[in-house]
Amino acid sequence: MTDTHKTRVTRLRAELKRQKLTGFFVPRADEFQGEYVPEYAERLRWLTNFRGSAGVAIVTLKKAAIFIDGRYVIQVRQQVDEKIFAPFHLMEEPPAKWIARNLKKGDRLGFDPWLVTAEQAKRLSEACAAVGASFVPVDSNPIDAVWTDQPQPPMVELAVQPTQFAGRTAAEKLKDLRKGLGNVDAVVLTQPDSVAWLFNLRGFDVPHTPVVAAYAILPAKGKAQLFIAAEKLTAEVRQHLRSIATTHAPKDIGTALRALGKAKARVLIDPAWTSERIRALLAKAKATLVTGPDPVLLPKARKNRTEQEGARNAQTRDGVAVSRFLCWLEREAPKGGLTELDAAENLKAFREVTGELKDLSFETIPASGPHAAIPHYHATEESNRKLGRNEIFLVDSGAQYIDGTTDITRTVIVGTPTAEMKDRFTRVLKGMIDLTMARFPKGTTGSQLDILARQHLWSAGLDFDHGTGHGVGAYLSVHEGPARISKSDRTPLEPGMILSNEPGFYKQGDYGIRIENLVMVHEAKTVTGGDRPMLGFDTLTLAPIDRRLIDVALLSDAERKWLDAYHARVLKEVGDHLAGDELAWLKKACAPL
Ligand code: ZN
Ligand code: ZN
Repeated sequence: MTDTHKTRVTRLRAELKRQKLTGFFVPRADEFQGEYVPEYAERLRWLTNFRGSAGVAIVTLKKAAIFIDGRYVIQVRQQVDEKIFAPFHLMEEPPAKWIARNLKKGDRLGFDPWLVTAEQAKRLSEACAAVGASFVPVDSNPIDAVWTDQPQPPMVELAVQPTQFAGRTAAEKLKDLRKGLGNVDAVVLTQPDSVAWLFNLRGFDVPHTPVVAAYAILPAKGKAQLFIAAEKLTAEVRQHLRSIATTHAPKDIGTALRALGKAKARVLIDPAWTSERIRALLAKAKATLVTGPDPVLLPKARKNRTEQEGARNAQTRDGVAVSRFLCWLEREAPKGGLTELDAAENLKAFREVTGELKDLSFETIPASGPHAAIPHYHATEESNRKLGRNEIFLVDSGAQYIDGTTDITRTVIVGTPTAEMKDRFTRVLKGMIDLTMARFPKGTTGSQLDILARQHLWSAGLDFDHGTGHGVGAYLSVHEGPARISKSDRTPLEPGMILSNEPGFYKQGDYGIRIENLVMVHEAKTVTGGDRPMLGFDTLTLAPIDRRLIDVALLSDAERKWLDAYHARVLKEVGDHLAGDELAWLKKACAPL
């Protein structure tokens, strides 16, 4: 393994010399900056063997470094040869800092401008310029030149998302979007989930996330232009697009951007998500660049009535599958012998029998005992662990259905919990409930609410090192912007947004806890005597929360009432679809405290 990667770095260095570069910047990204990267674009993994979901490497003729975030500090040492790649923390010692220390006057650090956003390119150019070096866009990626068995880009046919589930036709969405464009002549959309949502299309190039790997140019007047491989367009998709968009090969986007420049157009791009290549092509063509957030982000995040209805249906269906799984788990786990992968497989099987499962929304995290202390634990044949007696089992999973995307975490005990486990579990639960019950005025951001989920941990001198909640798409990405619930989010919450509510607690080497429900922002009932409109959350996720882990004495009256009411609702809505032993189990699991 090491030798292969050593050889790969040697061959890359030879190619860098040939291209007259002193180094190369290797992000984990494809041309669409999405979370899931297709095989052909896994250049970072090919070069370094690093398998995490985020990271960057810099290879110079003499040195090589890999940058990873806090989640991957341990993993990077297991996967990457540190004699070749020195590991650095992406936030504490970012690439810009490394550049300042390791590059010198006249150095040329190359990068593939399709794989780096306009914003990243600006930051890294400045870091290079500060030491007299330059950040150089290349025309052909030097890794592709030495990666001899690089896979081809995927060519899976698209599907039309029926209006019955989308709620609005693509033509209506385009019309709405144009209304908000002001004096902009055209928008370049580069985010695959924006393109998927706007055109009511779904794609299947990468697992778990049915986004469409395509660029779109939306002029203020006239048809949109969609840049996508012709192989992905079925007769149905062509028919669907006929009246709203023309389709073009991806390589023709350069010509289209130059035409915008020629027409002296004012063009909107989102520099946080648009590749540097697109920005540079527009700038070179002398288009007037207007920068701002992708205009699809907010309408996509504010689910319309049909999408809201779909989310509820998807959640009930998924709640039935998860509840049946929890029932099965409670019966099977105490017998011993059950592994994490067995559990994940069975959970998937319960979702498959709904007959509606399109895909999982991410790879299931089935974490037993100490594995539960790793928030992004990845179960493999090698790591696969048995569910031990008197140990915690945490399972974070989700599904893609045509009417909605789900994401749920339940933490259960196999056997008997310790008093400490119950204390921590109850503190996490209290936070989850208090955030769910929040009433807040319009304009409130996730960061202002975040403490509600943490307060009971903070008061015990504890915390958790991940965000409290992320946006969730409608049969799209399980992680969707722009709103989040975290210590630093700045996007006001708006009715129709779906977010996760997932506080946790992690004790390294011992156990971990996370309880995750999806909630939807809605306009709250007016409070008597109140004088302004308020918002609140509706819970969408339906599955019992393990009562054996709750220290009832720690709950306030309001929290206890909330949980009893939640369980009564789960029993009613999920119980309708269960019978026999499963229904009997659900009644017990949902009994009032
Ligand atoms: Zn989750
Ligand atoms: Zn989540």
